Amino acid sequence: MVKIKISKTLEAKIKKGYPWIFKYQLQNPVSENSGSLAVLYDHKNRFLAIGIWDPDSDLCFRVLNLLEPKEINYGFFQERFQKALSLRKGLIEQGTTGYRVLNGENDGFPGLVLDKYDKTWVIKVYTKGWFEFLGRILEVIQSEKNVEQVVLRLARNIEKSDFFDGKVLFGPDSVVPVNFQENHLNFQVDVVNGQKTGFFLDQRDNRLQIKKISRGLSVLNVFSYTGGFSVYAISGGCRKLVEIDSNPWALNDSLQNLKLNFQETRNFDFQQIEGDAFQKLKELNSNNTRFDLVILDPPAFARSKKHRPQALEAYSRLAELGVQLVAEGGKLFAASCSAPVSADDFYKAVHKGVALANRKLTEITRSGHAIDHPVRFAEMEYLKSVTGWVGGKK
Ligand code: SAH
Repeated sequence: MVKIKISKTLEAKIKKGYPWIFKYQLQNPVSENSGSLAVLYDHKNRFLAIGIWDPDSDLCFRVLNLLEPKEINYGFFQERFQKALSLRKGLIEQGTTGYRVLNGENDGFPGLVLDKYDKTWVIKVYTKGWFEFLGRILEVIQSEKNVEQVVLRLARNIEKSDFFDGKVLFGPDSVVPVNFQENHLNFQVDVVNGQKTGFFLDQRDNRLQIKKISRGLSVLNVFSYTGGFSVYAISGGCRKLVEIDSNPWALNDSLQNLKLNFQETRNFDFQQIEGDAFQKLKELNSNNTRFDLVILDPPAFARSKKHRPQALEAYSRLAELGVQLVAEGGKLFAASCSAPVSADDFYKAVHKGVALANRKLTEITRSGHAIDHPVRFAEMEYLKSVTGWVGGKK
């Protein structure tokens, strides 16, 4: 097993629970072909941690176990998996069969996410260091009842090998849309071609909040993807719904999700707009169209720190364009899933955009991930959102 060493400063951070080491932080040379585990030693040459090792990635070491040497075997994974499942037990009673079972580092599986859509389980790995352990993880999942299919998804930077994005690890080879429930609402998900593992499970609580405030409103859902927020808004009793997304497949999947829940869409005022959100928002504004609630939940605008300034600009611009469409006394919901953008910076960017539109946002709530996405350290706190009343001129 590879042995690695780091500075005393980073050592102190790791001891406090920070789980990542980047290549440039290594203080000793290591061989390239070196397996999928490494051991971190402190400056006195004592064991500090064992972790997932990936020499091809800048983020080369992710802590699995701190201070105490442990054998990384079936029992090790099974214990953590059971703990994670028990933390999420309440969700099933709330009518939710689609949820995140393992949230990477935060559940003791650094660089690995496991989402469950009823009887279909989807593993997503962010480092090829996990390939060696997928057999064990599969055994652990299969120790549960009613496991019909297990599918593997790979993060975009991972080199393909015997494992590829969308590979079925267990169960029937053909993957059809999978049905699941969220807060008693019905959804279908394409776990092979969909973004992330197919659905944005992290927004569940925020969607519920949208449902609670939607009665009688006209709602604009921008970046609607497969209609998560739309289904909640309709179920909350909104009177009109418009979706904007650039992806025609996503718009079609959204329509399917609406049909799964609401038989009578004929009399309902529903419209889908395909195209670039920034452009379409401008067009709606020039037609003087207004909504009681505008939802802005875009894709990540920043994937690394260097994209932060442009991302903040884009969040401001989006808030400016979105708030222009909010009727007097209406509401705005704006979210960001860019990890490199801090919550504070995001909220400032939203207020800046709102001010540029000559409006004022009085915040009602700030919120983050749903409870199946626990967060143990700042870098994992990627989701932030704000809901507020929109007043007239500032
Ligand atoms: N709000 C969604 C998740 C959004 S994912 C939910 O709750 O499930 C991001 C979506 O934005 C994707 O569907 C993608 O097709 C769409 N998208 C990305 N760039 C876009 C753009 N410039 N204009 C419109 N839609 C865009």
